[in-house]
Amino acid sequence: MKLKDYISQNLSRYHSYQKEFHEAVNETLEDIDTDELNALGLTQETAQRFFERFIEPDRIIRFKVEWDDDQGRTQINRAWRVQFNNALGVYKGGLRFHPTCDESTLKFLAYDQIFKNALTGLPMGGAKGGSDFDPKDKSRSEVKRFCQAFMSELYKYIGSDIDVPAGDIGVGTTEIGILYGQYLKLTNSFEGVLTGKHPHFGGSCGRAEATGHGVIYLLREALKQHDQSLSEKTILISGSGNVALYAVDKAIDCEAKVLTVSDSNGTLHFKNGITKDQLKQLIEHKHKNKMRLKDWKKSYNRESDSSITYHPDTNPWQFNAEIIIPCATQNELDEEDAKKLLKSDVVAVAEGANMPLTSKAIYQLHQRQVIYLPGKAANAGGVAVSGLERSQNASYIPWDMKTVDEHLQEIMQSIHKNCIKYIEKENGIYPYKKGANIYAFRKIYSAIQQLWPTN
Ligand code: NDP
Repeated sequence: MKLKDYISQNLSRYHSYQKEFHEAVNETLEDIDTDELNALGLTQETAQRFFERFIEPDRIIRFKVEWDDDQGRTQINRAWRVQFNNALGVYKGGLRFHPTCDESTLKFLAYDQIFKNALTGLPMGGAKGGSDFDPKDKSRSEVKRFCQAFMSELYKYIGSDIDVPAGDIGVGTTEIGILYGQYLKLTNSFEGVLTGKHPHFGGSCGRAEATGHGVIYLLREALKQHDQSLSEKTILISGSGNVALYAVDKAIDCEAKVLTVSDSNGTLHFKNGITKDQLKQLIEHKHKNKMRLKDWKKSYNRESDSSITYHPDTNPWQFNAEIIIPCATQNELDEEDAKKLLKSDVVAVAEGANMPLTSKAIYQLHQRQVIYLPGKAANAGGVAVSGLERSQNASYIPWDMKTVDEHLQEIMQSIHKNCIKYIEKENGIYPYKKGANIYAFRKIYSAIQQLWPTN
């Protein structure tokens, strides 16, 4: 039986109803084809036995979080930490607080994280965690009480040489600070157990910017490889969180014209491209008011500017541009969106978010010779700087912004090299997804076989 069919059966039997997780596993299996198995000396049968082990997370810790709301009522949320694989280093991956958080999503993110972390070249395995808690409609004290209650459970399972969580959707520097404060209270141990901390207590500078900047660094490399540049290119970006806004920032530095940002309520369109001044105000607005884009234009001091328009209940994919960078969430760009976008001259798509394109949307890009940079490569800058934060914590020596940025650029360049190491161009374009999966898989496979050989 073909490897993909065999693993599909396994997924249906042991991981039933976990659509996102199935998608993530299938997405990698598309690229680990017979040629690749032969190159590793694997037969269909030995590959089946290996994958059967590999797709099973080492452990999933599920816990209850009890916290009191502002009315003094006890609230309950569900929370998880998926420690998927630590063959390449400590379990590493973010924490997500969002109402859609469930075991399937976290398993897909943790599985993807193993590949992403392998690509960075840093010693990190794959994990992910989070809760279905929604910070959006909560007061600051409610978020504080929730974070403290969450860490009161999680601290039992993490450690600077075991599992080092970071932020993700709904978990920024503020939440990481409170989570770390609670860890300190409970353990009395000042150690690099979380990354994404504020630089005043061991965080790396440049962590907030790292994912968004990293996306643009990788995109710049990929365009250069195809004799193109970012200068003057038009870009659609979705989301207006951490990843999106710093992708806008670096894209402007590279003289590109970013036309959109969005949130779950709608899209802001900037006919002339976002300026640095507008971006600064978007970032300030996000920090102060938990950012609703529809309110931003009112607060922007040139509100009469007709070149900026707000489009409620839409995503950015209705507009045209040469480069597409989805930075909001999974499955936010589907086949129909891809077909619409491809009616104009799209040159490249770089995933700032994790798995924002559906597999059918990816297929559309493949048909049309568009450079496609998958999230596991494109958004690896964040976890790379998290890895650098661990180095700084272990050596007790903080680095300045310039040093961190130089390391980030080097890492993104080496991710680019890794992605094309084992592949050839197809119809004039490097198939980066295939390259990323093959490079990462070879490294993970080799580590697992040496540590825990499959009989
Ligand atoms: P944030 O919480 O800072 O921002 C998320 C943004 O996406 C917000 O603007 C949010 O709008 C929007 N969004 C979320 N869900 C939806 C939806 N269903 N439809 C439309 N818009 C939506 O998260 P980050 O920027 O940190 O993360 C974004 C993505 O990047 C995630 O996929 C994350 O896993 C990935 N990522 C993040 C890294 C990091 O370093 N932060 C590292 C690597 C990957 P609203 O406020 O309305 O919900």
